[in-house]
Amino acid sequence: MLGVNEEQALAVDLGGTHIRVAVVTASGQLSHRRDIATDAPDGPDAVIDRMARLIGEGAAEAGLGDDVPVGVASPGPLDTRTGVVLFTPNLPGWRDVPLVDKLATATRRRVALANDGNCGALGEVRFGAAKGVDDLVYIALGTGIGGGIVTGGHLIDGLRGMAGEVGHVVVAMDGPRCTCGAIGCLESFASGWAIRREAELVSRTADGEGILRAAAGGPLHAGVVAAAARAGDAAALQILGRAGRALGAAMGAFANIFNPKSIVIGGGVAHLGELLLEPARAAMASYSFVDVRRDLTISYSALGDDTGLYGAGALALAQFPRP
Ligand SMILES: [Zn+2]
Repeated sequence: MLGVNEEQALAVDLGGTHIRVAVVTASGQLSHRRDIATDAPDGPDAVIDRMARLIGEGAAEAGLGDDVPVGVASPGPLDTRTGVVLFTPNLPGWRDVPLVDKLATATRRRVALANDGNCGALGEVRFGAAKGVDDLVYIALGTGIGGGIVTGGHLIDGLRGMAGEVGHVVVAMDGPRCTCGAIGCLESFASGWAIRREAELVSRTADGEGILRAAAGGPLHAGVVAAAARAGDAAALQILGRAGRALGAAMGAFANIFNPKSIVIGGGVAHLGELLLEPARAAMASYSFVDVRRDLTISYSALGDDTGLYGAGALALAQFPRP
């Protein structure tokens, strides 16, 4: 049951394939959901129009006044100081798009913007696996790797809101090239695309038999490698062991730098579970102080597919608190 006076926000999860909107309350209830195709090739203005329409529909259905703010979780990189999305590979034609200005004009509401990883971190400490925790590192393992860092109860956003790129910490100075242009990032070992790359490489050799069997003629991806690993395939276990060790090295660095209470692992690749986390935990012991690990909990996201919506809601509630 909603409290009559409970603070609420309109949450928008802008993705490459879907725009999702919902009403999020301060106590973490999510309602009045909407979900449409992004149709990103239509360009930024059309996508922003769709977002504004969905926000209007959700607000009308929930009977929300104009004072209820909007939070947007968007792919990055973006500049939170100016509200401009700099560019994003998943949304063609998006370069220097003043998303906050345009959406605020279209909806006549206050609009807060952050990248989806940073929103995810806010969502986890406000509503999720790290509820009530003041010091969190959130790592979203997907096709790429995003995340965010909360310390002392505050999101670290940096000079232009671009902080918290936990996927692009370097774990091997001579490692593979990353999508960001750097070398040896965590993402180049433990992301969905990196695991797929390793699976494709090994599938061309005699050792790839188990992975090809698990793929059953379909495309190779992290889930296929996981299935082969669960069946005991040595090559698959080796790929995930390496990805897990890279994750552990990164978690060790984050533990030393931020001394968090909680590390939360989210994103689709987190479904690989202990296949990644077990080697990660083991590796972390080699890459961090024992004392920063003493009170640290490592857990999985509790928000699942709704991380973006909860995070966008948490962002708006934090940025525009009711007086
Ligand atoms: Zn990178």
